[in-house]
Amino acid sequence: MNNAPTQAYIKPSDASAWALCARRVWLDNKGELEVEEAEDAFEALIIELGLAHEHAVLTQLMKEKSVHTATSPEDTQRLMAEGVDVIYQAQLLDKENLLVGYPDFLIRHASGEYQPADAKLSLSEDKKEIQVQLGFYRRMLNASLPAIVFLGDGDTAEIDDETNPLTNQFVTEMRELLASDTEPLVRYSHSKCRACPYYTHCKPAFEAKEEISLLYGVQGRAADGLEKHGINTISELAASSPASLPDVPYLKGYEKKQRAILQAQSYFSGEVHQIAPVSLPDGHWVHFDIEDNPLTGSGEKHVYLWGFLVPDFSNADFEYVWTDTAEQDRQGWIEFLAKIEEYRERYADLVLAHYSQHERTTIRSYAKRYDMESNETVLYLLGDESPLFDMQKPVLDSLVLPLQGYGLKDICKHKDLVNFQWEDDSSGSQWSVVQFNRFLAENNPDMKAQLKAEILGYNRDDVIATRRLEEWLRAKFM
Ligand code: SF4
Repeated sequence: MNNAPTQAYIKPSDASAWALCARRVWLDNKGELEVEEAEDAFEALIIELGLAHEHAVLTQLMKEKSVHTATSPEDTQRLMAEGVDVIYQAQLLDKENLLVGYPDFLIRHASGEYQPADAKLSLSEDKKEIQVQLGFYRRMLNASLPAIVFLGDGDTAEIDDETNPLTNQFVTEMRELLASDTEPLVRYSHSKCRACPYYTHCKPAFEAKEEISLLYGVQGRAADGLEKHGINTISELAASSPASLPDVPYLKGYEKKQRAILQAQSYFSGEVHQIAPVSLPDGHWVHFDIEDNPLTGSGEKHVYLWGFLVPDFSNADFEYVWTDTAEQDRQGWIEFLAKIEEYRERYADLVLAHYSQHERTTIRSYAKRYDMESNETVLYLLGDESPLFDMQKPVLDSLVLPLQGYGLKDICKHKDLVNFQWEDDSSGSQWSVVQFNRFLAENNPDMKAQLKAEILGYNRDDVIATRRLEEWLRAKFM
């Protein structure tokens, strides 16, 4: 248990929220909102894996050095004064500057100085919040040696003086935020806000003032620029013309401005605007979607499921390659390539339709992983005559939709657009990672089979969704 006060203290655990949104970190510290944290199974899985990783680092350190667990800031100081090898769950407190920090470890260097260290599931130390957290501990310790990060793949990385400006920025901004009694003004960001616990608090206010950054493709900095030119609301943007709009950051050129205006118009009307012809390739279509597990601990994702929907596109036409564990990763890849050859032979004019760039970039990274960039099937998949077709492209190139995000689910679930509903409404890409990790941990064969069936059902619905999207595009816009 940490005994140190945290109220109005700056703590490095705020760095994640700070890196996302100034209002979020303010609400965390100063807000008096009752937030009902939805039970987030993905978040719970990350915490569980994070604790297991920290424990593995601790076990390793205990083999090499004597490790003492700190019980308070005073106890941490005492252990440091004694010069013990490693202090676990250290507690740092600076009452004068209102700073408090809890590094996982303080490790004594041969010089006598203590190096702060954290176990992180991340595979890279480049993340802002990691740099701030470790930089913050160094600042509190007045350390000259770098801090250590025990990364999720077993590597270690160092955080040195280079991150000091970022750490100082964090401390300065946090001081200002904690001193203010007013909720900071910020812009809407669809990717950040919809995953935020304060979404239901912030969204109605954004909507009430017709915040321009609610629109897809209009970023905060573009909204700042428009505001400087007197365009403050979605209505005002909807009533403008591309020629009258000034060039502002992220909103330059006729096409982008036209899109933004149409996006503003469809925000109110719910209308779909077609801005260019929709063109889809001819041929025999096979719909394609993969599921991968990024939490392998090796630094490399494991694609456990390569799923396909073949003609006649019914539920029974779902085919797949599945591997149970990351140890079978190569086998799954080879079976996937064999499947592609099977389709290639069956359909000379194969079109392998997927949504977004993820499938193509994954194939490229697998070819690299297994040193198969010159493999004939890989060359076919990634070459000039590639059968791969990204369905998001015609959507983004040709349509303006009454949506805030252009993901497959955004478009397909909308009742006035594709109107396709997944059988399991709670499913999603993070959901499937959680289910697969449950599958890995499960020993009961019946439960294991059930989890696998649920994941397959979700992937099947994904490829049926891209098929429905194809049909919708053909029926409405071609
Ligand atoms: S909902 Fe958006 S604006 Fe509100 S606190 Fe969260 S990230 Fe910030």
